[in-house]
Amino acid sequence: MDGNRSALAPISLPAPAPRRTVQGVVAWGDHKVTVGGNAPVRVQSMTNTDTADAVATAIQVKELAQAGSELVRITVNNDEAARAVPYIREQLDRMGVHVPLIGDFHYNGHRLLTDHPDCAVALSKYRINPGNVGRGEKGDRQFAQMVELAARHDKAIRIGVNWGSLDQDLLARLMDENARRAQPWDTRQVMYEALISSALESAHRAEQIGLRRDQVVLSCKVSAVQDLIAVYQELARRTDHALHLGLTEAGMGTKGIVASTAALSVLLQQGIGDTIRVSLTPQPGEPRTQEVLVASEILQALGLRTFVPSVVACPGCGRTTSTTFQELAKEIDDFLRQAMPVWRERYPGVENLRVAVMGCIVNGPGESKHADIGISLPGTGEAPAAPVYIDGQKVQTLRGDAIAQEFRDIVQDYIERRFGAHA
Ligand code: SF4
Repeated sequence: MDGNRSALAPISLPAPAPRRTVQGVVAWGDHKVTVGGNAPVRVQSMTNTDTADAVATAIQVKELAQAGSELVRITVNNDEAARAVPYIREQLDRMGVHVPLIGDFHYNGHRLLTDHPDCAVALSKYRINPGNVGRGEKGDRQFAQMVELAARHDKAIRIGVNWGSLDQDLLARLMDENARRAQPWDTRQVMYEALISSALESAHRAEQIGLRRDQVVLSCKVSAVQDLIAVYQELARRTDHALHLGLTEAGMGTKGIVASTAALSVLLQQGIGDTIRVSLTPQPGEPRTQEVLVASEILQALGLRTFVPSVVACPGCGRTTSTTFQELAKEIDDFLRQAMPVWRERYPGVENLRVAVMGCIVNGPGESKHADIGISLPGTGEAPAAPVYIDGQKVQTLRGDAIAQEFRDIVQDYIERRFGAHA
C-alpha cells in the first residue's frame, strides 16, 4: 500500500448518468405530467379494484395519488369497465384529484376504445401490449385502430411488452432467423431480442400511423433482475423513447421489494428509466399504496427525488433492550408521513428535512448533529434523558413519559419556523 497521502485524489459522489430520452407529456386538462428527458423520474401505480366499480376505483386512485403516484393505471377489460372510466374521472375531478389515468388494454382495446368514446377521452394514456392485440394481419389492424384513436384524441401510449405475453409471431420469426445463424444464440438471448424488437417495431409502426415520438413510451418487462437489467440496457442503447421501468410480477413482501429495488437501482443509476412502477403483490390487509411508497423510497434513496423528510434511525443493538427506541422511531416516521399531504402544500421544501432518532450515546449525538433535528435516546444503563439537537446544536433534554409527544411538537415547531409562510 502506498502511504503517501499527498498522492490521493478527493473522492467524488457518484452521480446517476444523465437520461437521454425524448420528453413527452401525459395530461388531464390543465394538469400536465412530463415524462422523459430531464423531467423527474415519475412514480406510477396500478389499481387492483374492479374498474366497473367506479366508486371503489376512484377511492383507490385517490389513495394512490395522495401517496405520491403521479400517474395511475386502471384495467379496462370489458364494456362495464369502459363505461365506468368517465365516471371515475368525474369523481376524481370532483375530489380535486387530477392525476392522469392510464387505461390498461389487452385483446379488445381496439373495440372498447371505439365503442366507448367517452372512455377514450377520459383516459390520458393507453397501454397497448403488442403481444395481446391479436395475431397476423388482424393484430396489425387492431393495433393501428388503437394508435389512430390515440392520435385522434391526442393521447400518449405505452407500448408495454411483457415476457409472459410475448408476440408469438415475432418470436417464431426470430427463432427461425436464429436457427440460420452460423453460431446460434441461446434461447434467452433470442427472448431478449424478441422483447426489444417487439417494442421498437411497434413504436415505429405507431409513429408511421401518426403519433409523435414523444407520445410513445416503451417498456419491456420481465420478472428476473438480471434479465431486466440486460433487456433495458440494450433497449436504452437502441432508442431515445421514454422508458417505463419495472420488474413485472416482483412478488410479495420483502422478496418483491428487494428484487424491484435491486433491478431498478442498477438501471436508474445508469440513467435508464423515466417512470417506474413497483409491481408488488399485496400481502393480506396490506394497502395498495405500498407499491407507491416503495417506488418513492427507491428514488429518494438514490438521491433522484425527494418526497418525504428522511428519518435516520439506528438499528438498535444490545444497548437498546427496551422497545422505547423502536416505538419512538416508528412514531416519528408515521407522524412525518401522515402529515406530508398537508405539509407539502403548506411548507414548500419540507421534504428535504432530515430527522435522526438514535438509540444511545455511541452514535446518537453525532448522527443527531448531522441531521436538521435529532434526538438521542438513553440506551440501557444511561441516565433517562434524551438530548435534542437542532441544526447541530443541543437545544434541550427531554425526560419522562411524554418524550415522543414533546419531540413531535419540537419537529412541528421547527418545520413551521423553517418552511412556514413567515420563514
Ligand atoms: S447508536 Fe447505540 S443503540 Fe444505536 S446501534 Fe449504535 S450503539 Fe446500538
